[in-house]
Amino acid sequence: MNNETVIDEKALNDCLDEITRALLKADVHFDLVKNLKINIKKIVNLDDLAAGHNKRRIIQQRFSPCRAIFNELCKMLDTGKPSFMLKKRKTSVIMFVGLQGSGKTTSCTKYAHYHQKKGFKPALVCADTFRAGAFDQLKQNATKAKIPFYGSYMESDPVKIAAEGVERFKKENCDLIIVDTSGRHQQEASLFEEMRQLAESTKPDLVIFVMDSSIGQAAFSQAQAFNRSISVGAIIVTKTEGAAKEVVRLVRKVVATKSPVIFLGTGEHMYDFEVFNVKPFVSRLLGIGDWSGFMEKIQDAVPMDQLSELLQKLSEGKFSLRIMYQLYENLLNVGPISQIFAMLPVNSAELKPKGDEKESWFKIKRYMTMMDSMTNEELDSTDPKFMNESRVVRVARGSGRQLRDVMEMLEEYKRQAKVWGKMKGFLKIPKKGEKSA
Ligand code: GDP
Repeated sequence: MNNETVIDEKALNDCLDEITRALLKADVHFDLVKNLKINIKKIVNLDDLAAGHNKRRIIQQRFSPCRAIFNELCKMLDTGKPSFMLKKRKTSVIMFVGLQGSGKTTSCTKYAHYHQKKGFKPALVCADTFRAGAFDQLKQNATKAKIPFYGSYMESDPVKIAAEGVERFKKENCDLIIVDTSGRHQQEASLFEEMRQLAESTKPDLVIFVMDSSIGQAAFSQAQAFNRSISVGAIIVTKTEGAAKEVVRLVRKVVATKSPVIFLGTGEHMYDFEVFNVKPFVSRLLGIGDWSGFMEKIQDAVPMDQLSELLQKLSEGKFSLRIMYQLYENLLNVGPISQIFAMLPVNSAELKPKGDEKESWFKIKRYMTMMDSMTNEELDSTDPKFMNESRVVRVARGSGRQLRDVMEMLEEYKRQAKVWGKMKGFLKIPKKGEKSA
């Protein structure tokens, strides 16, 4: 081994150590990290690289830790198979399957609600006659989301109910008919037989398998067992909130079955539902942030002339209360707050006001009311000390809030200013008419 190789190997190992540390910090399982190292070593064939002192540079450029981690993780989590595309005004029948308690019924409604917002005309059919209360649950969820539903308390044959429901909603020109089926505690032969019969009678365009993220090692065999009985076209993983590590492991197991994961359930509420895209998911996992997703949302929401100024100030680390106001004002219109903040290259919990979605929303509204009582000078200041006691008292009085509410809002401002400060330099300002990459 000559000196040069030692240097190159050292560069590579430094690089890999950095990758390892970043991954373990991102809570990625040790086995995954080990495999990743092996794979990268295979890719980086040192002997193939051109001779000379620039080897180190080549390694660093081509295999910069971020890019290498990113590419490898994406590769691991991607089935490479496109998922089924729904078409408006063309009826698609989607059948949901999975074990009891996996979150099937909840996900059916979330899926319907998601597509309803996109302009589809969904309908729900409850073909779960096994679990007492399944129909009531679906009915309740469907009513809340204003989605038509079909089911029966009296009929015990799920195949008959499913066929009737699908028939009826086809006549009503629904373009997305979702059939919720029975789940059982385990993979029972009778469950699979019922699924097969249901599929025969409803002829689904897509079968979605719903899987709880906590299932761990059993994921592959479970997905395979379902796949053997019925052709599973896509997977929804539920209960993924705060479980990035489990999600990575699970997705990695299930991609082996070649069914793409299409959505993640992130809570019990209707809007706790995210499209699963490998790249943004990995970005978030690594703390790089789904920058393009965020920019797309923000560009859709903020008028172009305001956007450049806003981003310019953010990129310079000039975070004022007015900027916080503008961000809130625009982001409130574009979707769940948790999803938007989760896209940023910081721990989303650092930016999002604490509490659930509804609570966050009210908090933000309250902060905005208080900011409405501030002077231009106060809004534009980037010095947290500028808001002295008499100013705080005046704002509280003006907005009809308590002093502690104003103090809380100012604390929030300081917290956010710190986080945005960390992102200095991350922001790319799009030119007129250009969508960011
Ligand atoms: P099913 O038996 O498969 O139809 O499961 P359900 O839809 O009834 O869900 C079982 C439980 O899991 C319910 O209490 C749901 O509220 C809950 N649940 C479903 N999806 C999620 C999720 O993504 N996150 C969390 N935290 N709970 C969920």
